[in-house]
Amino acid sequence: MKEKKEITCVIIGGGYAGINALKTIRKTLQPELGAGKLRLILIDKQPYHLRKVLLFKPAVNDDNIVVPFGSLFPDGVEFIQGMVMTIEKRDKRLLYQDESGQEQHLKYDILILAAGSVIRQPDADQGGIALTGLASAAHIRELWHENLRKAVKETSRAERQRWMTVAVAGAGISGIESSAELVYALRKEASALGLDPSEVILYLLNAQDRLFQEGPAKVGMKLERLLKGSGVTVLHGRKAIREREGDLLLSDGEILKVGLCIWTLGLLPNPMLRSMGLPLTAHGRVIVDANYRVKEAPGIYSIGDCAQIVDPVSGLTDGMTCKEATAQADRLGKVITADVMGHSAPVHKSYIDFFCFGLGPERGMVWTRQWGLDIVITGKLGWKVRKMTWDYASLIK
Ligand SMILES: Cc1cc2nc3c(=O)[nH]c(=O)nc-3n(C[C@H](O)[C@H](O)[C@H](O)COP(=O)(O)OP(=O)(O)OC[C@H]3O[C@@H](n4cnc5c(N)ncnc54)[C@H](O)[C@@H]3O)c2cc1C
Repeated sequence: MKEKKEITCVIIGGGYAGINALKTIRKTLQPELGAGKLRLILIDKQPYHLRKVLLFKPAVNDDNIVVPFGSLFPDGVEFIQGMVMTIEKRDKRLLYQDESGQEQHLKYDILILAAGSVIRQPDADQGGIALTGLASAAHIRELWHENLRKAVKETSRAERQRWMTVAVAGAGISGIESSAELVYALRKEASALGLDPSEVILYLLNAQDRLFQEGPAKVGMKLERLLKGSGVTVLHGRKAIREREGDLLLSDGEILKVGLCIWTLGLLPNPMLRSMGLPLTAHGRVIVDANYRVKEAPGIYSIGDCAQIVDPVSGLTDGMTCKEATAQADRLGKVITADVMGHSAPVHKSYIDFFCFGLGPERGMVWTRQWGLDIVITGKLGWKVRKMTWDYASLIK
């Protein structure tokens, strides 16, 4: 029998797509190849998996939302901390900058590009602070604490109200979850400081005319009612334009007096993709086929936020979400195993309609559509499902 050669599989990016792809490849390809025949290398610019969907947590409570790669994959996976600069597809190698800034090459047989997205930022002159990473989350946490302490000393009623007011600009899932957690924490802290918690105001600014455009209007309305019950005031059809010294100008000319303006503006494909030498859409996502194979790049696959993935039956393009990245990763493991073993590979399918929202401690909402019916779960059970999805996506048992 012919001896199988060793295969080196390199995964760029240890976000949700990368770690889940790694898990499935270990499960599916490794047993097919046999012991010692698969070298798995994960390369990421950070030494840890960032639980990006929980970014609002450190903005509220100083929670830890990173998982070191060493604890996620204690054995059988090599980890390199490095920033990938470009892919030399003809030579099947990539160029990266290691921790000391030195350029290094790495050869691969199979390459999975899962370099994800970056969070959209407002222009520098728009003021406020964008929730873009761990540092900005910590900054937000310091600012709102500081504002409440200022409110305690404030003698002017109007000024005290301003210190106790926060605006979250951008009402996608990140804006919704951030608002719900923040208002709860602010009220609790206000109480502890002897302030009247009902004076805390949290505006959620929504450019659209309703929340949750991805689902039915009645579910968006239910979500708004739940937010209102927690103390969040949703302002529809208005965008934040800029914040200057506590004056937040809105697109309809109104000025809100705020102590803090937080931007949660959604995601953009990783700009690094532009230098990787692979075919991109006009929007900057990697072009792949229905098996996640990158066009004109043998051995390279791409999934997650960085790839444009289209359902060949419905023609629908997957969104930049964690749940879609996780499902793609699961299928990718099977595609790669099929490609290596010479079988026919499974084809991409859109994710079922399913959305979860965390609405503050122990509160959540889940919506799914099954058999043409809208199913909504709220309260503690909604939160349990929400927490399960967060943990599952980050391989936490
Ligand atoms: C605040 C917030 C809330 C969200 N909430 C939800 C939600 O509730 N539900 C949901 O489904 N989705 C949500 N999303 C979207 C979700 O986070 C993304 O869809 C998901 O992170 C995509 O996973 P990914 O692995 O493709 O990319 P990412 O998570 O962006 O991971 C990319 C990885 O690649 C690494 N990397 C990037 N460039 C390089 C390079 N050049 N070299 C080496 N490494 C590199 C990064 O360090 C990172 O580890 C949210 C996003 C944000 C920001």
